[in-house]
Amino acid sequence: MNNFDVIIIGAGPAGSTAAYTLAKSGISCAVIEQKKTPGKPVCCGEAVSEASLKAAGLLHGSYVDRKINGFRIFFPNNKHFFVNSPGYIINRDKFDQYLFALAVKNGANTFLSHKAGTIKRTDTGFEVLTNKGSFACKYLIGADGPESLVDALFFNNRAVLAQAAQYKLPKTNYHYNSTDYLDFYYDTLSNYYFWIFEKTREINAGGLVKNKEVLIEFIKKHVPGGDFKYKGFCRGSIPISGIKDKIFSQNAFLIGDAAGLTNPVTFAGIYTAILSAKICAYSIYGEVKMGKKESPALYEKAVRKQYFASNDLKYAAKHCFSLPQEVLDFTGEYFSGRHFKTKDVLAFVKLAFKHPVIFGYLIPLLKNRKLLKDKINHLW
Ligand SMILES: Cc1cc2nc3c(=O)[nH]c(=O)nc-3n(C[C@H](O)[C@H](O)[C@H](O)COP(=O)(O)OP(=O)(O)OC[C@H]3O[C@@H](n4cnc5c(N)ncnc54)[C@H](O)[C@@H]3O)c2cc1C
Repeated sequence: MNNFDVIIIGAGPAGSTAAYTLAKSGISCAVIEQKKTPGKPVCCGEAVSEASLKAAGLLHGSYVDRKINGFRIFFPNNKHFFVNSPGYIINRDKFDQYLFALAVKNGANTFLSHKAGTIKRTDTGFEVLTNKGSFACKYLIGADGPESLVDALFFNNRAVLAQAAQYKLPKTNYHYNSTDYLDFYYDTLSNYYFWIFEKTREINAGGLVKNKEVLIEFIKKHVPGGDFKYKGFCRGSIPISGIKDKIFSQNAFLIGDAAGLTNPVTFAGIYTAILSAKICAYSIYGEVKMGKKESPALYEKAVRKQYFASNDLKYAAKHCFSLPQEVLDFTGEYFSGRHFKTKDVLAFVKLAFKHPVIFGYLIPLLKNRKLLKDKINHLW
């Protein structure tokens, strides 16, 4: 049996980051990934803020497709405003492969085309059985995405998953001009939102919808073009209920989507996956290399301190997605064509005050001034 200090299930951004951080500090680890090639097929809008990439130390890489200035938010009445928040559209397959290559380069052991099926606790840690062999370790990291096996076996958390779908549209067939912004649409066709992210050669058009017919209806409404043509289609689950109840238990850890760590407002999960992986690796390092027995258990506490895991943000998200059309259209009308500035909010609130129904819906958001003030760059 192959024996390691740490076994990581999953080679997405969370798993590969944990692997290269551990391997770099001399801790023996193995990544078990069911896919033949990490990152493929792509099922992602592929957007990451500059602040996130910078904080992750990943600002410059051949995986960048193009730079963007921020995003536009469209309302049901089709009015929109701009939010300046620089970022990038990446090629997600290349990005995941870059992180995986870092893990290999730093000495992590990697097992592709290995699907973890059964994992048992033993006297010394865990035994992981895959379709191709068995592995033993002291620490187990579940980086196995939204439908985590590690969670099901050792935590049994409850989480709400939303279904998302995305078409990749060839630019030659469509006339969409995003003018270097990512476009988010509050459209009555979804309870959440749709996105249109323009890459160099294609357009990622997706939404939080169960049904692909609804997405096609949205695309026909908002992306001018001829016949409906596409280069690719994917479906995936996104955790939308925020950090799970428990993400550490007796040397078993959940990181990234497995821990429910997408941002509750935007559902972006690349950066939160990377950050939680680093915190997890440092907490294992604390025990293995520095002899601090209490270190692994500090992982959960450290993640809960992050803004993306805060109750404030969960609260804001709940309200963002329960605003009635009247409030959304009022907001769209007010900010139409403008570049969002926090100082405009006061004037907006004064106007809304004259409309008690609308004002009532804004109170929970105003309680989250932090979000509007300095957290926008950390939402995605
Ligand atoms: C349609 C869609 C669009 C999105 N757009 C964006 C976006 O624009 N920006 C953003 O920041 N986030 C986006 N997200 C969210 C983002 O993709 C995830 O949050 C991110 O991938 C989480 O990384 P992870 O490493 O935790 O999990 P994953 O990337 O899901 O990786 C988990 C890995 O574990 C492997 N695995 C699972 N089970 C096993 C097993 N039993 N044995 C072996 N291997 C296993 C899987 O094959 C996979 O490779 C989007 C998600 C979806 C579905």
